[in-house]
Amino acid sequence: MHKDSITLNPGLYVTATPIGNLADMTYRAVETLKAADLILCEDTRQTAKLCNAYGIETPREAYHDHNAVRMRPRIIKKLQDGAAIALVSDAGTPLISDPGYKLVREARDAGIDFYPIPGPSAAMAALSAGGAPSDHFFFAGFPPSKSGARDKAFANLAAINATLVFYESGPRLATSLKAMADAFGDRRGVVARELTKLHEEFREDTLTTLSDFYEEAPPKGEIVVLVFPPEISATTPEALDAVLKDALTTMSVKDAAAEAAKALGAARKAAYQRALALKDGA
Ligand code: SAM
Repeated sequence: MHKDSITLNPGLYVTATPIGNLADMTYRAVETLKAADLILCEDTRQTAKLCNAYGIETPREAYHDHNAVRMRPRIIKKLQDGAAIALVSDAGTPLISDPGYKLVREARDAGIDFYPIPGPSAAMAALSAGGAPSDHFFFAGFPPSKSGARDKAFANLAAINATLVFYESGPRLATSLKAMADAFGDRRGVVARELTKLHEEFREDTLTTLSDFYEEAPPKGEIVVLVFPPEISATTPEALDAVLKDALTTMSVKDAAAEAAKALGAARKAAYQRALALKDGA
């Protein structure tokens, strides 16, 4: 019998699990997974490790991008029939760059009750200890893998006055950091790697220096990148104009904008527009 001490109301329990250190499982998450009628897993083998560690014997089924369309109606039916179902991903909080959004949306529309069981998430762990401003932040998830789409996505993020939070893989890190420097100016960034694990590491520097470093030594493991907000003081109109005017005496509008963006940590798009205006005699 897998039931433990608590009884769950019917509904969907969106349950966070550890991002590396098994001991980060919350007490409530263990209780919930033990008491649920079913655990929906991104990968049943991955969740089996967690369940073995905590003596959780609840039946498990896979719910992931490849079977979601087929599974969703069945799950909604079970929930409507009164089941308590837990949703977990391989690590961290479901729906945060992980499957589950459509299930939650459809179950909500079907009037199912919901319960978040909060816990670890790599974005929050990185923000909590990474040293980047945390009063305002924007979670941007994984950057697109194709360069055109990535540059477009970054251009849309450049003006946001908040710390930007990205998930990234080791092999793509250096290229991504370089593209970030091009799009955002050479702001400071933090690479938070292998959080809560044996080789946990935080490295802070300018985006260009970080890119050079990781190009030399492509990192292993899982990674969060924090990009500091634009430097207000460095991008005052006066400071930008001074650098642009000087650069425009010898450079094209495009190069002058790139130079100013790099020198001041300014957004490249804004620098380009201002350089165009200066060139036109505004
Ligand atoms: N749902 C998860 C969460 O709440 O953090 C994220 C899932 S997403 C598919 C996996 C990505 O999260 C990894 O590629 C990495 O960018 C980041 N990540 C997960 N665990 C991490 C860790 N321990 N340290 C650093 N980044 C991590």
